[in-house]
Amino acid sequence: MRHAGSAESLERRSRAALVNEPGPVDAGLCERCALAVVQSNRRGSVFWRCRRAETEPRFLRYPPLPVVRCDGFEEGVPSSLRHEEPP
Ligand code: SF4
Repeated sequence: MRHAGSAESLERRSRAALVNEPGPVDAGLCERCALAVVQSNRRGSVFWRCRRAETEPRFLRYPPLPVVRCDGFEEGVPSSLRHEEPP
């Protein structure tokens, strides 16, 4: 039986797992997905958010990384990387 809070606790656990400390995280498919959003906080931690989760509940807002298989994958550039200039 599935508990009402299970999706929430899964998301909480996955959120803890996706922070890239101290080195860069391997986000897997999300790194090449147009629906991924890379966010960082003031402490420099980086989070990979799935925009597909906004409309499709079966996707986690913060999926456990690396994502190795995803039927929502859409080839493209994650949004916050789209405007990044090369060094
Ligand atoms: S749809 Fe899949 S691959 Fe794309 S951002 Fe969401 S979890 Fe990552």
